[in-house]
Amino acid sequence: MKIIMLGAPGAGKGTQAKLIAEKYNIPHISTGDIFRANIKNGTELGKKAKTYMDKGELVPDELVVDLVVDRVAKDDAKNGYVLDGFPRTIPQAEALDAALAKINDKVDYAIDVDVPDENIINRMSGRRACVACGGTYHIVNVPPKKEGICDACGGELILRDDDKPETVKKRLDVYHEQTQPLIDYYTEKGILKTVDGTVDMNDVFAAIVGILG
Ligand code: ADP
Ligand code: ADP
Ligand code: ZN
Repeated sequence: MKIIMLGAPGAGKGTQAKLIAEKYNIPHISTGDIFRANIKNGTELGKKAKTYMDKGELVPDELVVDLVVDRVAKDDAKNGYVLDGFPRTIPQAEALDAALAKINDKVDYAIDVDVPDENIINRMSGRRACVACGGTYHIVNVPPKKEGICDACGGELILRDDDKPETVKKRLDVYHEQTQPLIDYYTEKGILKTVDGTVDMNDVFAAIVGILG
């Protein structure tokens, strides 16, 4: 099963992608996590990506596409994967489709986690991310058992630099301009499924399981 998660920053793509990956036993591939790992390790890619991420802009397509095409070709992705944060532009979606078509393959579902902009700023200012495993929490909605510590791995929880309100506003603009057109793109392909992302995360997941079977 090959799944793409769509939705505004903070809509809950990562939260749901992790649950999907566990239930269906497929890898969760997050381009944001890949970039943050590269930044942490001080790689060339990380240095380049950071200049865009800090401003709330997208990393250029040419720095993202090959990375994802290589990743989904790995052995552990043979039976499927859930892509979180990719594609984010029409050219990225076209590049993925072209790479999959070459091996007679295709995306099965594009799941749009729908959350209005009004809810997003609050979600993001309360988001805390694990520096070690990428797990996300929310200080009110999804608190960790112990403040500041990841339930899953014991790592430290931080407020991401790009989750500050000024940057979130910019990311929302970028989302509407560059990523939202993907909703029409996947509707035309007949694989778009929309779920209400404003309800409790377990109810969002139940709706997704209802779609995936
Ligand atoms: P969120 O979880 O809030 O949607 P991500 O962790 O997916 O954010 O992404 C953080 C940042 O990483 C983005 O704002 C963007 O700068 C960069 N990024 C991640 N994925 C992509 C992509 N597919 N194309 C371009 N930039 C990306
Ligand atoms: P994305 O990957 O789309 O940027 P996340 O999965 O990181 O979004 O979620 C953003 C924030 O909202 C996190 O703090 C997360 O704990 C919280 N969150 C996720 N799903 C829900 C939900 N259904 N209701 C309330 N808060 C949620
Ligand atoms: Zn963790």
